[in-house]
Amino acid sequence: MPDPAQIAADLRKTFRGRLAFDPTTRGLFATDASPFQVAPLGVAFPRDAADLSVLVRYCADHAVPVVPRGAGTGVAGEALGPGLVVDLSAHFRRIVSINADTVTVEPGVVLAELNAALAPTGRRFAPDPASGASCTVGGMVATNASGGNAFRYGYTRDYVAGLDVVWDNGEAGNLTPPAPFPRREGGVNPAPPSLLGKGAGGLGSSPDRTEAITASTAALLQANRELIHLTRPHTAFNRCGYLLHDVLTPAGPDLAKLLVGSEGTLAVVTAATLRTVPVAGGTCLALLGFPTLDAAARAALDLRAFGPVGCDLLDRRLLAVARPGAPSQVAGAIPAAVGAALTVAFEADTEREAASRTRLAIDALRDVHKLVVLVEPACDPAGTARVRGVREAAVAGLYGLGSGPRPVAFIEDVAVPPDALPEFLAKTQDVLKAFELSASFLIHGLTAQVHTRPLVDLNAPADREKLWPVAEAVHALALALGGTVSTQHGTGIARTPWVEKQYGPLMPVFRELKRIFDPKHLFNPGKIIGPDPSRPAWPLREVVGGREAGDGRQGTGDQESPGIAVPGGAAPLLVWNGSSPAAEAAKCTGCGDCRTLAPRGRMCPAFRADEVEEASPRGMANAVLRLADSAGLASDEVKAVAARCVNCKMCRDECPARVDVARLMLEAKAARHAAHGLDRADWVLARAESLAATGSNFAPLVNLLLGRRPARWLIEKIFGVARRRRLPAFALRTFARRARGMGLTKKRGVRGGDRVAYFIDVFANTNDPLIGAAAVAVLRHNGVEVYVPPRQVGCGAAALAQGDLDAAREAATRNVRALADLVREGYRVVCSEPTAALMLSQDYLDILDDPDAAALAANTVELTTYLWELHAAGRLKTDFRRLDLTLGHHVPCHQKALRGPAAGPQLLALIPGVTVHTIDVSCSGMAGTWGLKAANYEASLAAGRRMFDELNRPRILFGSTECSSCRLQMQEGSGKRALHPVQYLAYAYGLLPEIGAKLRKPLGDLVSD
Ligand SMILES: Cc1cc2nc3c(=O)[nH]c(=O)nc-3n(C[C@H](O)[C@H](O)[C@H](O)COP(=O)(O)OP(=O)(O)OC[C@H]3O[C@@H](n4cnc5c(N)ncnc54)[C@H](O)[C@@H]3O)c2cc1C
Ligand code: SF4
Ligand code: SF4
Repeated sequence: MPDPAQIAADLRKTFRGRLAFDPTTRGLFATDASPFQVAPLGVAFPRDAADLSVLVRYCADHAVPVVPRGAGTGVAGEALGPGLVVDLSAHFRRIVSINADTVTVEPGVVLAELNAALAPTGRRFAPDPASGASCTVGGMVATNASGGNAFRYGYTRDYVAGLDVVWDNGEAGNLTPPAPFPRREGGVNPAPPSLLGKGAGGLGSSPDRTEAITASTAALLQANRELIHLTRPHTAFNRCGYLLHDVLTPAGPDLAKLLVGSEGTLAVVTAATLRTVPVAGGTCLALLGFPTLDAAARAALDLRAFGPVGCDLLDRRLLAVARPGAPSQVAGAIPAAVGAALTVAFEADTEREAASRTRLAIDALRDVHKLVVLVEPACDPAGTARVRGVREAAVAGLYGLGSGPRPVAFIEDVAVPPDALPEFLAKTQDVLKAFELSASFLIHGLTAQVHTRPLVDLNAPADREKLWPVAEAVHALALALGGTVSTQHGTGIARTPWVEKQYGPLMPVFRELKRIFDPKHLFNPGKIIGPDPSRPAWPLREVVGGREAGDGRQGTGDQESPGIAVPGGAAPLLVWNGSSPAAEAAKCTGCGDCRTLAPRGRMCPAFRADEVEEASPRGMANAVLRLADSAGLASDEVKAVAARCVNCKMCRDECPARVDVARLMLEAKAARHAAHGLDRADWVLARAESLAATGSNFAPLVNLLLGRRPARWLIEKIFGVARRRRLPAFALRTFARRARGMGLTKKRGVRGGDRVAYFIDVFANTNDPLIGAAAVAVLRHNGVEVYVPPRQVGCGAAALAQGDLDAAREAATRNVRALADLVREGYRVVCSEPTAALMLSQDYLDILDDPDAAALAANTVELTTYLWELHAAGRLKTDFRRLDLTLGHHVPCHQKALRGPAAGPQLLALIPGVTVHTIDVSCSGMAGTWGLKAANYEASLAAGRRMFDELNRPRILFGSTECSSCRLQMQEGSGKRALHPVQYLAYAYGLLPEIGAKLRKPLGDLVSD
């Protein structure tokens, strides 16, 4: 194999995509959603099929293994390998054509995107893997993916109408199901056209390789027909090994069918034509409870007679972890006595029919199985979401268990003949007991597919050593019952060692098949036909935190990962309280949820903007994990990864494993700053607070300059602040001065009653003092005593976001000194800016190890939350004037990160005549000061597009949001005035008439070139 420099040099002229051989990129692609780790030689990002062809040809000539990869959500380590990982999720993103009942797509298209594009046609792609928000079509085709609805809709294999592929010699193939037409004289029919079309990144099909493979495959399958049928498992569904039983048709072998499920071991898919199905007219879900796992399993088997589409069984452990996170209406409805539950789903042409079918099935099962209905059949989106929410909360809860034993996927893909399910479950529990392991069971009850996840501490050598013998025992049990070791997820690294045990005499046929397609073992070596003898059969993820690894024996094997440092030993710069950056990063299971582009949820604006692995929270966690010594964290590669994180903190709250990637990236930025300082643009942004204070001293002059094109050009050139962005003008009088004038900076000494210390953020102080004025007026109107502590300074968020820990710490220390005594005196600290509230209540704890910081954190509250608390206690006045307005209220990420109630829109809705349209669809795209940078201007507007679409609805007159940078962005993208909710409240109370003037004025207080 040539070395990376040689490969890069050889391909420089012919390969148009990116090639990466640096340790960070290799680290990012060394893991997926499985418990395994294999460092690739490098990663390639081909731009299109022709580019891929060049790459494959080169790799074939130089014996470089090729490992295709989609989103890396495989749980069996299918997309891990020692050669060149080829990331097809970056560029192969086109939905090429949508026809009446088919769709042609490139392999990097994500299932959720595909279904969103199909939705207007009333159709969808039927297989529904639970990872559909992030997995790609290429990955689904290669793993023959299916989901909870497989009983009714089957697998991906049932819907593939054609594939474009690149063969092992770099030639293209176009595979459509064989048609029974006569062969042309000379034997070769004209090659069908590429699905992508020539000149559009597609390749013409080369008949030679396709013909040769077709002929050899036909002969092989013909000769082994009987053996193929004899060795099939007796399960409803199987996806282990190569599926051969229905490939040979009278017209020849259906190579497209054969390639589905081949896990990238036979060819690389560059386009797929998929059959679509109509979206059901009605879908109805219900949640049923049972005393035991066994009772639920038996009920699921009986349910099959009623024609459901899906039925998932959740065991007692899953229900227990689901309760806290499940939708509130459901959590309380699951009594502790319930030992297992079934989510059942029925579809029909109408909701009514779906509901009646669901009820019919429940009534029939009720007496036989002593079930209790935990959630009545629901067909509306809110009701079905409640039932789905239980399953989602269960999975999230399981992964959010924190450190120590966690669910590990290594025996999770077994299926048995349905009637053998109760026996299999009982015996599997015996095996687990013998190894002193507990596990969760999520079972597709109709098809007897069992996802068992034992709780294992992968950092504990004793636990690591149990994995292999447990897998041996459980897989042997499944095979003895006529089952399969892989029914849904993949063969990959996890199950390749058992393929031979499952298929026995068919194994030579598999090997011959591989020889026909890929004689040099170029594609994804070591998968399906036999583990790579040069590597441990199970290259388990590295131990984190310096604990002893296992003994490296085959089966328990620990992975040596050449060139990638084992983390540990770095002295963290933030406060980690018994944890460490490496331990936090190691919580990442690699599930890939954070690669979602789906509208639900916020995570992750960085990935949504760039859609590359290094912009995903998983990529960021991996960057820390693989390079967690101080030199690594401060490296250019990690800097490039960390720069993408906008510290919105949505990953911390939405990632199933609750990995606090925001904190990890702050650690990385701090390490970088400590080692190298800041560049000019970052230095300016880090000092945004003090520069704003200085600017406000010369407000008239600065405002004049900010409105002049040459000055803005100069500012962009020198400081990197986008000249196209409208910036807020500086106020002629800061709020701090106003507060002094009003005597607010003197304590009144009043005892009893509500007392708050108002923390002024920089924007309210220097740009829009009417926010502070409104806050004070509204609080006082409601009988709250307001004190504005004069010694407070900016919260330090801008400095922290750039990694300037010294400056952020200094700000934090000064504010803790200014505010902690007040807290002891009984004041609550109220912030009108969510970012400031987040700094004082959460981030200060990460940068200061000080009990006073903890006291301040516990007594800090965001303003609208405080006002809503007053309302809840019946102490908020409602003597509002009528305002006939429709407001679009954007919920900022930092408001969500505070985990309080959605107070802003609820308060606004108290004003007579006000209609509030809550916009909770995405990050605004501004992300603090990130969107101010010229380099980020376009991306920032693109990231806010969904918010703008909502705000631009004609009936919405004005915007509202608590966050000042989101307000700027709302105004930038919609041209509509946006205010802080407290300003609307003050206006409605009749307290600040100036706000009316502001609403009537166009955006004249914003300056642009
Ligand atoms: C939380 C979670 C839930 C899951 N639920 C399900 C489920 O319900 N059902 C299910 O079936 N799976 C499930 N999976 C497993 C996984 O998501 C699926 O196998 C998925 O189809 C993999 O898609 P991917 O894009 O992530 O592929 P990857 O993981 O990147 O790759 C998977 C395999 O496909 C190959 N491959 C990728 N692209 C190509 C290509 N263009 N040409 C050739 N080979 C290619 C790779 O080499 C690899 O062998 C789940 C995973 C997770 C983490
Ligand atoms: S960061 Fe969270 S969501 Fe992303 S891969 Fe890791 S565990 Fe999954
Ligand atoms: S903090 Fe926000 S931007 Fe950063 S990784 Fe998490 S979700 Fe992405």
